[in-house]
Amino acid sequence: QAKKLGKNNYCFFESTGENFIKNKLDLINDLAKAIHNEEFELYYQPKIDVKTMSLVGMEALIRWNHPKLGTIHPNQFIPLAEKTGQIVKIDQWVLKNACMQNKQWQKENYTPMAISINISAINLNHAQLVEKVEGVLEETGLAPGYLELEITESTIIHNIDYASRMIRELQKLGVKISMDDFGTGYASISNIKKIHLDTVKIDKDFIMDLHKDTANKAIVATMISMANTLGVNVIAEGVEEKSQLEFLKKVNCDQVQGYLFSKPLSGKLFKERWLVKQS
Ligand code: C2E
Ligand code: MG
Ligand code: MG
Ligand code: MG
Repeated sequence: QAKKLGKNNYCFFESTGENFIKNKLDLINDLAKAIHNEEFELYYQPKIDVKTMSLVGMEALIRWNHPKLGTIHPNQFIPLAEKTGQIVKIDQWVLKNACMQNKQWQKENYTPMAISINISAINLNHAQLVEKVEGVLEETGLAPGYLELEITESTIIHNIDYASRMIRELQKLGVKISMDDFGTGYASISNIKKIHLDTVKIDKDFIMDLHKDTANKAIVATMISMANTLGVNVIAEGVEEKSQLEFLKKVNCDQVQGYLFSKPLSGKLFKERWLVKQS
């Protein structure tokens, strides 16, 4: 196992504002216990419709409440879990818990909306993904239209023919597919057309660079216009400033997500602050 991880067996990371150096093997052992010990938690970030400025969906984002290190963010353990294969179990846990939570909110009579989860490359390549999704939908009773899978552009482009077949199979179940981190993986227009995406999500790096020069504005406007032309829903992530929102409005972006509206919140806070009962 150590060999597979390469020469550097230590990782340096920040958790709860402190810096730690941790042996990767220790972290892998901790990860193995995390599901069983219920140390993972889903946080939820609202997706806002630009025209109505109201909530239209939410993204589930995983957090690891490590017993000794405190809250660990996904960038600090997902890449490791992908190397060890532990991501398969983690994503399965996320899938089930996100669907359960969404169904629970619907049972409490909150206005139903889609929940998005992030699917790692390894799981897209797992032949059982379609059956797993189908199984969880059945088990939790969540209607498929209320589940969206976010798959990164690089994952899709890496094996476009295979990915487009998987995406088709998943869409046949009735779930929605979003291309995450759009703009970072060099997908061509013909690729995007070929895979029939429901949504493209413009990567936050583009949104953060909007103010820098007019070229960045032109790039984002072009991505949005392309999505609009193809009839694909388009969302921008990482919206932190009012000026970014104003620009995105002007160029007909459908939805926005970012700290301007809310950071990802625990289920309890998300429900308190964002969900409204159906009338
Ligand atoms: P992502 O799916 O592209 O998610 C966007 C990330 O940007 C999230 O970080 C979110 O908290 C953060 N973010 C949202 N709005 C803003 C903003 O206005 N400004 C800034 N600076 N950041 C913002 P997070 O939660 O740390 O997740 C990082 C990445 O980890 C995600 O990127 C996703 O690729 C991965 N990830 C998260 N949860 C899961 C999961 O359950 N399974 C898998 N496989 N990957 C996950
Ligand atoms: Mg995402
Ligand atoms: Mg993203
Ligand atoms: Mg991203």
